[in-house]
Amino acid sequence: MKVLVTGGAGYIGSHTCVLLLEAGHTVTVIDNLCNSSAIALARVQELAGRPLRFLQGDIRSRTDLSGAFEGGVDAVIHFAALKAVGESCDEPLRYFDTNIGGTIALMQAMETAGVSKLVFSSSATVYGQPDSVPVNEGAPLRVTNPYGRTKLVMEQLIQDWCAARPELSAVLLRYFNPVGAHPSGRIGEDPRGEPNNLMPCVAQVAVGHRSHLRVFGDDYATPDGTGIRDYLHVMDLAQAHLKALEYVGLHNGCEIFNLGAGHGHSVIELVRAFESASGRNIPMEIMKRRSGDVAELTADPSHANVRLGWSAERDLSMACADAWRWQKANPLGFTPDPE
Ligand code: NAD
Ligand code: UDP
Repeated sequence: MKVLVTGGAGYIGSHTCVLLLEAGHTVTVIDNLCNSSAIALARVQELAGRPLRFLQGDIRSRTDLSGAFEGGVDAVIHFAALKAVGESCDEPLRYFDTNIGGTIALMQAMETAGVSKLVFSSSATVYGQPDSVPVNEGAPLRVTNPYGRTKLVMEQLIQDWCAARPELSAVLLRYFNPVGAHPSGRIGEDPRGEPNNLMPCVAQVAVGHRSHLRVFGDDYATPDGTGIRDYLHVMDLAQAHLKALEYVGLHNGCEIFNLGAGHGHSVIELVRAFESASGRNIPMEIMKRRSGDVAELTADPSHANVRLGWSAERDLSMACADAWRWQKANPLGFTPDPE
């Protein structure tokens, strides 16, 4: 297939592009590099041994989008978005503009180009504080911050669009907690500034960029008191996008899938797994709870298991080993390779 990948230079997009190229798809990436590096795409091509077409552009620009659709597109995988919860509380309009405005512009460009297949990156954040875990796709949706609201609105816009156009086919993928890196250590998560997520913070302590990990709360109603999340290896997540692409090729309408391992790990379990993988000590300081956090959020991924034929195959120790290989080899993130 000819696949247009928005946000393909980012963390999840770059890992997905490797698998798309390896599977023989023709890939165009549109990314404005606001949270990523072109070096990631050079390494994607090196890993896959095949080229992709890269257009540095913004999904909110009609001109940039029409350039991206030149040469024909069979399906779109839409990763491009702003994703920091805290920042979305400080700058909600920027989030509405990029995430919602960008998605509307993309749907319009798809309609103009006659492209009917879409795979969309949503998030488990749409469940907010769930009544019970693991959560399935029918659980109530309760967003708790502007970032989450953009994901929910984008889901609804895509659903409305599909309802109006029976020829369309869309898959909304609700990711739980993506972690890890490509096993080569050549690409991985490279957060700009202070990372918010747990695994990059732990990796930065292990590599010596930070003195210790701040653990946000040890008084939750969980076995060791720390928060439990469903950590999913980014290579498993990338694989799910290939399954979703097959799915949109075969089904019309709009379908939602949770993507998670189906079980959780606490903060302390993740720290211990990272210590084993890295051989480094991760000092911890217990802080008060982070506002908006829930005690436990895990996926019921059975819908994806059955309908997409996908399940997570890599465990937390593998994710820690791969994240550590990436962090150790690239302590400053993406920097040019020596000549
Ligand atoms: P990322 O920031 O690494 O990748 C997003 C990419 O989109 C970046 O390369 C960025 O430069 C690009 N981008 C942003 N705005 C753009 C614009 N206006 N035009 C063109 N490109 C633009 O993030 P990621 O972790 O790879 O996340 C990918 C998607 O998955 C996002 O939609 C995110 O909300 C969603 N998601 C991520 C997580 C996670 O924990 N990483 C969890 C759930 C959902
Ligand atoms: N967490 C932590 N210290 C950090 C970052 C995160 O203790 O520096 C905890 C957080 O409170 C939650 C878990 O790690 O229980 C996962 O947090 P993350 O931000 O990675 O994912 P999310 O909260 O979005 O599920």
